[in-house]
Amino acid sequence: MTRYITRFAPSPTGNLHIGSARTALINYIFQSQHPGSKLYLRIEDTDKIRSTEAFKKNIISGLKWLGIKWDNDPQIQSLNIRRHIEVAKHLLKIKKAYKCICTKDQLEERRKKINTGEIDSKKICISCESNNNVQSLEKGYVIRIKIPTTGKEILKDVIQGQVEVNNAEIDDFVLVRIDNTPTYMLSVVVDDHDLGVNFIIRGDDHLNNYFRQKFIYQHMNWAIPQYAHIPLIHGEDGTKLSKRHGAVNVIDLKNDGYLPSAIINNLILLGWSPKNQENEVVEISDIISQFEIKNLSKSASIFNYTKLDFFNNYFLRIESNIKLFEEYCRSNSKLKEFLDLDKEKLFRVFSVYKKDISKYIEIINIADIYFSKNFSKNYDENFQDDFNKVYSNFLELIININKWEYDIINLEIKEFIKKNNIKFPVLGKPVRYLLTNNYNGPSITDIFMILGKSVSIERLKRYKI
Ligand code: GLU
Repeated sequence: MTRYITRFAPSPTGNLHIGSARTALINYIFQSQHPGSKLYLRIEDTDKIRSTEAFKKNIISGLKWLGIKWDNDPQIQSLNIRRHIEVAKHLLKIKKAYKCICTKDQLEERRKKINTGEIDSKKICISCESNNNVQSLEKGYVIRIKIPTTGKEILKDVIQGQVEVNNAEIDDFVLVRIDNTPTYMLSVVVDDHDLGVNFIIRGDDHLNNYFRQKFIYQHMNWAIPQYAHIPLIHGEDGTKLSKRHGAVNVIDLKNDGYLPSAIINNLILLGWSPKNQENEVVEISDIISQFEIKNLSKSASIFNYTKLDFFNNYFLRIESNIKLFEEYCRSNSKLKEFLDLDKEKLFRVFSVYKKDISKYIEIINIADIYFSKNFSKNYDENFQDDFNKVYSNFLELIININKWEYDIINLEIKEFIKKNNIKFPVLGKPVRYLLTNNYNGPSITDIFMILGKSVSIERLKRYKI
């Protein structure tokens, strides 16, 4: 079996976007499917102005939280700049690159002519390469790669299929800037080659870059990796997924109380579906055994937050995931307060309400009702006479329940209703309101169980007829 060397290469110029997380996830799955293969993480921080340490940390912690594992320590691209320059110098030496001193204005003018079709060739610099004075300069130049002006390049992409581009369409792009810093185009290829990367999975916004980057491989006589360019994900309105559609930073999703399994489930179904899966719920181990990268759709997929909520609700209800709830509570200041006050009570709230929530953060407002010490609304509510007639007896019944257990409370309430010949809502609605300030919600027995006997009685007593 082939041993694949893959990599995920984010630029720390923003937080870990859900779309990038999908690229990382697919790399991770692919690597996991091929024993002996590796996945490297490379932080592409050569854009010193836009890259920050905070973004780097965000990316790394987002990946770790999702459970995406990589080999070795993350590689920091800016530490390899000397090597990138060395390769550019070599390309100069073997005449596969040349020095260029065209000014901004000259390039601008030429670009205009190219764009208006006044000149056929896409070559942006036509004079420097043959100018010996320029080629013998010691500094003050950029290094451009040489691209043939005829012929065409064919990429057999694992997802996009065969893609062809005429060389005449490709410009002699810059490898090293005037300040002697390498461009992304150069650094990415050198680092991938030096790491032995032979399978590149990345967003299809980089598809065009292949037709540039391949010349660096070719000129250096390096083996060209295989490519799988995955389509970008869009919001419901068909535009690139962004903040306008909902949370897109993985750590924001974590803070809202989404679970990694739900995010992974939602991401992997974009452009792929598992076999024989009724409700589309699929866990990472099944994904690893079933996913086939070549079957990934090549059209953009829509990220659906409603579906994410559905999966999250599914995963948060799983009994064994209760530890994830506890972890979440520890990371959230308000829930941590409740947890420290009365862990059992908080867990009772969660277990009663979990079917109704799509993410953990929603528990804060719910738990607040049950933990509130000054739950002292003035009741200007006037309940029906039918309730007023039985209120005192019901309060007494509750006071007299000695064993505060679900089945016992439930039975007592049922018998009370029967004995007093009333319909359940006559009692249930006002009692629920007295206990939670809400006419709707869980069964009153559940509420009694969450609150415990003394708080329940305290709250019931606040109603004076
Ligand atoms: N650093 C690039 C980015 O974040 C990725 C480069 C690549 O995958 O080739 O878009």
